[in-house]
Amino acid sequence: MSWDALHEGQVTSVVGGQAQVGTQAFDNVAPATGQVTGTVGGADASQVAAAVAAADAAQDAWRAVPAETRADMLDALADRLEAHADVLAGWESRDTGKPVTLARTVDIPRAVHNFRFFAGAVRHDATGCHITRGQALNYTLRRPLGVVALITPWNLPLYLLSWKAAPALALGNTVVAKPSELTPTTASALAWLAQEAGLPAGVFNVVQGLGPEAGAALVEDPRVRGVSFTGGTATGRRIAQSAAPGLKKVSLELGGKNPSIVFADCDVEAALSGVVRAALSNQGQVCLCGSRVLVERSLLPRFVEGLEARFRALRVGDPSDPATEFGALISAPHRRKVEGYIALAGDEGGQVVCGGGRPTVPEALAGGFYIEPTLITGLAPDARTATEEIFGPVLTVHPFDTDAEALAYANATPYGLAASVWTQDLDRAHAMGRDLDAGMVWVNTWMLRDLRVPFGGLKDSGLGREGGTYSLDFFSEARNVCIAWRS
Ligand code: NAD
Repeated sequence: MSWDALHEGQVTSVVGGQAQVGTQAFDNVAPATGQVTGTVGGADASQVAAAVAAADAAQDAWRAVPAETRADMLDALADRLEAHADVLAGWESRDTGKPVTLARTVDIPRAVHNFRFFAGAVRHDATGCHITRGQALNYTLRRPLGVVALITPWNLPLYLLSWKAAPALALGNTVVAKPSELTPTTASALAWLAQEAGLPAGVFNVVQGLGPEAGAALVEDPRVRGVSFTGGTATGRRIAQSAAPGLKKVSLELGGKNPSIVFADCDVEAALSGVVRAALSNQGQVCLCGSRVLVERSLLPRFVEGLEARFRALRVGDPSDPATEFGALISAPHRRKVEGYIALAGDEGGQVVCGGGRPTVPEALAGGFYIEPTLITGLAPDARTATEEIFGPVLTVHPFDTDAEALAYANATPYGLAASVWTQDLDRAHAMGRDLDAGMVWVNTWMLRDLRVPFGGLKDSGLGREGGTYSLDFFSEARNVCIAWRS
C-alpha cells in the first residue's frame, strides 16, 4: 500500500512512513457522478494514538536538523508536487468535484508555492535582540511546539494542508494531519511524496478518518501541543473547548459570509468579473467567497443585468473536462443544505434572477451533486439567507444609498473573515479598509494572495492569524536568552 494504491482508489493513513490500514473503512464518493471511487481506511482512536506516538518519536531528531536542511527538503517536496501536478489535480478534482482546470491552475501550484515560500521563510528568518541597560544581551530563539495537529476541510484539500504543513515542518515540528473524510487522497499522496523528498519517517503523518472520531482523538491527545484547524465555526468551537484543558496553542480559520461592496464610481466591468469570481469560485465553496453583494443603488439595474449574463455564461458540467468552469458541490447533504437556503430565500421575499435549480447534465453525471449558479435579489440585508454561511454558489444582491449604510450592512453578520470593495475613490477605500469587520479587505480585486500577510478572521470567523511570520510565530514558542555582560 503506498502511492500506487492511491491510483487504485485505496486510501490509507500514513504513519511512521508506513501505510496504516484503518479499522473504520468508508467509501470515497466522487461528487461529479455520485459513484464510489474507492475505499478510505479510517483510523480509530488507538490508531490516531499510534500516529501521535510516531510523530512524538521523530520529534527530537527532526528539531535537531538544521533549518536550512529542512528547507532543502521542503523544496524537494515542492519539486515532487510539481512533477506530479497533473495526477494530483486529477485526484483533487475527483474528490472535490471542482473543475480539474481550477485544481491544476490554483490548488496544486499554490501548494507548491506554500512549501517553497516557507522553505525561504525559515532560511531568512530573523529574531530579536535587545540590549538591557548596558548590562545584558537578550536574544530570542524559536523553539518548535513539538507534535502539531493539522485539521483541514474539503474545499481546498492540498492547498490548505500545505499552508499549515509547510511552516510547521520548516520550524522543526512533527505533524499529524487529519484531512476531511470527503477528500482524503491528496493528503496521503503528500505523505508519500514527503518521504521521497527525504523527510524522515514519523515527521509527517496523515490519519484518515471521521471528524468526531479521528479528529477529536487527535485534538485530545496530550502529546499534541498545537492544533491548526480550518473548517466550520461550530467545529472550531468544539476544538477550542477540547484543546483548552491541555493549554494547547490553537489557530482557528473558520467560516465567513463575506460582502462584496460595489460603489457607483467603480470600474464596472472589472467589478462584475471580480464579484462573479468571488461568488462562484469552486462553486462558491471557498471561505473567502463574496456571497452577498452590496451595490450602490444608482448602479443596481446595470449591475444585476451584468451579473445575470455572467452567471448564465458559465460552463457548468463535468469537472474532468478541462473546459468546465463550474463543477459539482461536495456532497448530497451539502447540496440539500444549499437548496434549503434557496427555498428559504423565497420565503424571505427574495426573487431568484437566475439559477436556483439543478442543471441538465449528461446521463453519466446524473448522480452528481450539481446546482446552478444562483442570483437572488429582493432580500432584506438582515435576512437569514443574507447573513448565514451557505457555502455554495448563491449570491444575494442588496442596494445601499450611503457609505455608512454599506458599512453597516457589511458588518451586520456574526462573521468577519474577508471583504472586497470596488471603488475608484482612494479615501473611500481607506475608510472601508479601516472600518470593515474583516481580517482581510481587498480593494478592486479579490483573493489576490501574498503569503507574507496576515490571514484570518474576526468574530465567528476565527482566532489567530497564519501567513508569513504569523505562521512562524504560531508554530513556534519564542524563548528569551538573557546573557549578562561583565563590566
Ligand atoms: P468541518 O468543520 O465540518 O470539518 C473540517 C475538518 O474538521 C474535517 O477534517 C473534519 O473531519 C474535522 N472535524 C469535524 N469534527 C471534528 C471534531 N469534533 N474534532 C476534530 N476534527 C473534527 O468543515 P468542512 O465542512 O470540512 O469545511 C467547510 C467549512 O470550512 C466552511 O465553514 C468554511 O467557511 C470553512 N473554511 C474556512 C477557511 C478559512 O481559512 N477561514 C478555509 C476553508 C474553509
